[in-house]
Order: sequence, then C-alpha cells, then structure tokens
Amino acid sequence: MNPKPVSAEENPFEAMHARFDLAAGKLGLEPGLYQILRKPDREITVALPVVMDDGSIQVFTGYRVQHSLARGPAKGGIRYAPTVDLDEVRALAAWMTWKCAVVNVPFGGGKGGIICDPFKLSRGEIEKITRRYVSRIMDIIGPDRDIPAPDMGTDGQVMAWFMDTYSTHERMHLPAVVTGKPIGLGGSHGRIEATGRGVMIVTREALKHLGMNATQCTAAVQGAGNVGLISALQLAGIGVKVVAISDIHGGLYNPRGLDLTKISAHLQKTRKLDGLDIGEKVTNAQLLELPVDILVPAATENVITSRNAGNIKARIITEGANGPCTANADKILDQKGIFVIPDILANAGGVTVSYFEWVQDRMAFFWTQKEVEDRMEIIMCEAFNAVVDMGRRFQVSNRIAAYMLGVDRVASVTRMRGMYG
Ligand code: NAD
Repeated sequence: MNPKPVSAEENPFEAMHARFDLAAGKLGLEPGLYQILRKPDREITVALPVVMDDGSIQVFTGYRVQHSLARGPAKGGIRYAPTVDLDEVRALAAWMTWKCAVVNVPFGGGKGGIICDPFKLSRGEIEKITRRYVSRIMDIIGPDRDIPAPDMGTDGQVMAWFMDTYSTHERMHLPAVVTGKPIGLGGSHGRIEATGRGVMIVTREALKHLGMNATQCTAAVQGAGNVGLISALQLAGIGVKVVAISDIHGGLYNPRGLDLTKISAHLQKTRKLDGLDIGEKVTNAQLLELPVDILVPAATENVITSRNAGNIKARIITEGANGPCTANADKILDQKGIFVIPDILANAGGVTVSYFEWVQDRMAFFWTQKEVEDRMEIIMCEAFNAVVDMGRRFQVSNRIAAYMLGVDRVASVTRMRGMYG
C-alpha cells in the first residue's frame, strides 16, 4: 500500500496549490477570486458506526469535500482505502473542479472517501458502510447538489447501494444521484471504458501533434485496474505495443509486447497479475523508468517525484491516475522536454461519460455505445486542442495550460454570478 505522504512534495493538496498558484499568476487572477478558488466550499467529516460480520461494532471515518459549485453541482468519486485522508480528498475535489472545466461539462468539483480496506471487508460490511455513509451525507448530495461516482476501491455495485439508499430515503427513484452505476440501473454504455478510452484519445492526439506513429511506439502502464488495464487495451487498439503493466505488487515486462488478452482474462478471474507466467518481473519503480515512448501512470498519486523524474525515459507521459507527478517532478520533466498530458485532461474521459450518464438518467432516455463514444471523442479532442493552444499562447507546460483553462472558466462564471456576501 502507498505510504502516507512524508514531505510537503507528496501532500496532494499542496501539489494542487503549487500548480494553481502558477496558473493564477499567469492569468493575473484578482486576489479575491484567488482566495475563493484556493479553498474548498464545504467539507464534512462523518462517523460511520457499522455492525461487522462477527457482531462487533466498528466506527469508520468518512469525508465529502465540495471544492466548487460555481459551474454546476459538485461531481467526483468516492474512494475506499486505508490511506484516505482529508488533504487527499481536498486535492481530489479541487482537481475535479478544474477537470470538469477543462472538458467544459457543467459540474463543479467534489470528492469523498472512507478510511477502510475494502480487501479486508466482506461485501456485506462494504454495503453497510456505504449505506451508513449515504445516510450521513444525504443533506449535501443529490442530482442537483453533488453527484458521487466510483474511484479506487469502489465499483458499480457500491454505486447501486448508494442510489438505493438515497432513493429510499427520498421516497423517489433518483438514479442521477450517482454515476458509474450498472447499466440496468441507469448506468451508461461506455462508462466502464471511458477513462481508459480518454487516455487513448489524448495520447493519440499527442502522437499526431509530435509527428510520431502509434504503430512504432511502445508503452508501459502502471496500474492494472479500471484505468490501467483499459488504457493498455485501448492503446493496443491503435497499434501501440504495450510492453509493461503492473499492479500494487509489481509488474510484467516483455520488450516484444505483452499478451493483453491473457492478462485481461487472468485479471477478470483473480483481480491480480500474480500467477501469470508472462515476460520478466519488474518492480513498480523499474516500470516507470523503462525505455518506452509512452508512460501511463494509472494507479495512484506521487509515483513520479523529484527522486525519480530524472530517470524517466518516455517521450510522452499520459496521467491516467490523479496526481501521479509531484510539482517538483514537473520542473524536471519540463526540462527533459517530456510531453506530459496532465491528469485533469488525460483522465477526464471518465467524468465526461459520467456527465452523459447523468443527462441520460434525467431524460430517462438512453444512448447507444456509439453515440456515447462519438460525443466523448469530440469533447476530448476539443479539450486537448484547447490545452495545447493555451500552452502555446502563454509559453507554459501542458499542465499549467490545463490549470489556466480550468481556473479561467471557473473564475469567469464566479465573476458573472457575483459576490453574495
Ligand atoms: P482501481 O482500484 O480499479 O485500480 C488501481 C490499480 O492500481 C490496481 O491495479 C492496483 O493494484 C494498482 N495500485 C494501487 N496502488 C498502487 C501502488 N502504490 N503502486 C502501483 N500500483 C498500485 O482504480 P482505478 O479506478 O483504475 O483508478 C486508478 C487511478 O485513476 C486513481 O488515481 C483514480 O483516482 C484515477 N481515476 C479513475 C477514474 C475512473 O473512471 N476509474 C477516472 C479518473 C481518474
């Protein structure tokens, strides 16, 4: 499991602030707006008493942070992990604000988390924790207030329990309170693949932008979960040779390319890479430094820091995970001329299709997979071009350009709405 942040460099909220400050400076943001957008609008900590399978009572801690509601209801996932803490949730909530603005979907940013280890809990215990959490945060969520979704450690079933608890208390059928639901319960076609597909689309656009040919490129992917595995499959779909993939326990590497069909089937059965006799074993640290064209960190935060950024050999880094690079690493990667596609653009395919799911639930009228993919393609390409264009105009990295685009869009509606107090 990821160790707790040991330095300011590894505090995700500080990492968000470091980039926000640079973007705000370049935009010449007024001091008042700077103060408003730097802080979350609302944070709530809840105690979650639950009767465990052995009859004992355990009290879990949950959080929900709404960073901004300026452009629409808050939107953002719920993470179940032992390492969840308030600063992480704050950072993830703010990233959602900028991300929704970058892809121009009408949401603000939120995030939630519960300190627990889903791998050590039974499904029944996870259900009880989820239902208790929903009942405790009911007053601040809702289809027009704040719409959660899955993140690390949560899945479609957790969203189904979420929707059921909320609807039961409200005495109404309200599927639009969460996204990432199973299809039969108001989920959207294409949502499971959306984040990985978005990773592929922006990587493909970056390859075009840099004059590189996908079929001559290799990729290493850190993380073999929803984002990592699907990114790997999607990149392979455009002809990229995926040579390495890992999960929390380590990775597999074959410079001639990995058999992703076999890996995918094994993961579906066991949810681990362990037990696969493919390629050579590498650690997660080694995977990041492999001689590849494309590196996709798609697991967790703070994996590329000032300690290892100098050793990265990839030409393109597509951030499938949220916050995989620290602000200190940014400087080193910039100096090396690595084309970084920042998280708030690279993994925004997920929230884009979550937006589609919310729209479909509210209309009670559902789209085909092709309709979802076509609409997402337009949004991701527009966002990629807008970020690259901003970077060119202001002579800043893609990351700062993406922050500038997001911050500017949120600042502009905040000015329009005016100050209430
Ligand atoms: P997941 O739980 O499905 O998969 C996570 C994968 O990363 C697993 O293979 C796990 O073993 C591995 N992992 C966890 N900790 C690791 C570590 N310290 N080192 C190496 N590998 C590790 O989660 P996911 O939904 O794929 O999310 C991954 C990242 O993408 C997170 O940062 C999440 O916030 C972000 N993200 C997810 C979505 C989405 O739609 N699922 C959307 C946007 C961003």
